[in-house]
Amino acid sequence: MFEIKKATLEAVALAAKNTYPNEFIALLSSTKNDEVIDEFVLLPSVYGKTFSRIRLDLMPYDSSVRGSIHSHPGSYASPSKADLRAFKAMGEIHLIIANPFTLDKVRAFDKTGKELSLKVIE
Ligand SMILES: [Zn+2]
Repeated sequence: MFEIKKATLEAVALAAKNTYPNEFIALLSSTKNDEVIDEFVLLPSVYGKTFSRIRLDLMPYDSSVRGSIHSHPGSYASPSKADLRAFKAMGEIHLIIANPFTLDKVRAFDKTGKELSLKVIE
């Protein structure tokens, strides 16, 4: 099961809020190379109102990348078809944070769109 540091999640939530009404997107990584996500990585991205896209050609070849997080300007944190296509290229766990970008609006999915449980740790 994946875990995420509360401070990391709060930082991402704030970034998502600041990017609104555009979508925010970042990669999630683990500095200890385990299943504890404790860092997010911003890459040159295209932030749009209905989608955001990471420049995957600029993605570091780095085994610490565990997955991704992106925001939904609307209130539903469910992956779209485009999300599922993007998930396949970005690791094992994918978070979506929906408006109003509070921690209880975060849901986690695997690359096929199946919901995962995510534990928030101190
Ligand atoms: Zn999405």
